[in-house]
Amino acid sequence: MTIKDRSWVEIHLDAYRANIEALKGFMAQGQSFMQIVKADAYGHGAFEIAEQALELGAALLGVANCEEGKLLRLQGITAPILVLSPSLDTEIDELIEYELRPTISALDFASTLNTRLNELGKQLHYHLKLDTGMHRSGFSESDLESFLKELPSLKHLVLEGVLSHFAASENNPQFSREQEEIFRRLLLKFNPQPKFVHIANSSALVSELASSGNLVRLG
Ligand SMILES: *Cc1c(COP(=O)(O)O)cnc(C)c1O
Repeated sequence: MTIKDRSWVEIHLDAYRANIEALKGFMAQGQSFMQIVKADAYGHGAFEIAEQALELGAALLGVANCEEGKLLRLQGITAPILVLSPSLDTEIDELIEYELRPTISALDFASTLNTRLNELGKQLHYHLKLDTGMHRSGFSESDLESFLKELPSLKHLVLEGVLSHFAASENNPQFSREQEEIFRRLLLKFNPQPKFVHIANSSALVSELASSGNLVRLG
């Protein structure tokens, strides 16, 4: 790295730290954050941002896919990593090998993963995604009921978090409030409550839409 590159990186990391400190001001008592570092942290360098985020107290890191998570592991990151997009059956062995937490939004995938973990005698933490109005992925209310019935049989999967995603936190606060209400209602079906509950991204946080959940996802 040349001196010029180095100062460029430092300026960006300073800006990143200032940004996180400012966003922390919007977080409620007891809330922590997941740092999203997908797409190489939007070009800022996933590894560098991950290290800073962990220093600043990030509880987890979020990546788009298994490949991005694997890369961070190979660079020496040992913190919990959540894969945000749905993973494929063909990625199961790597998820397990690199201890990457999948976001699960289908019972089929959960069963296949559980079977493989059983063969290996291992467990894996995961987060469950609920559809509260985005209609792209996640369990609907009725699918969730079926999933929860199967939950006791998925012995190798450890439910660590429940999440959803705002479809339009930037331009439709009314719709977001409706999503939040659905999220709260679906959360009542979990007993005990999972360790992490999260729906808000950065823009939802600054729009004061982050009151449900003890974790926010900062991009
Ligand atoms: C990318 C992503 C984020 C980060 O969103 P920003 O709008 O950049 O804050 C949060 N949550 C999920 C599920 C994402 O995929």
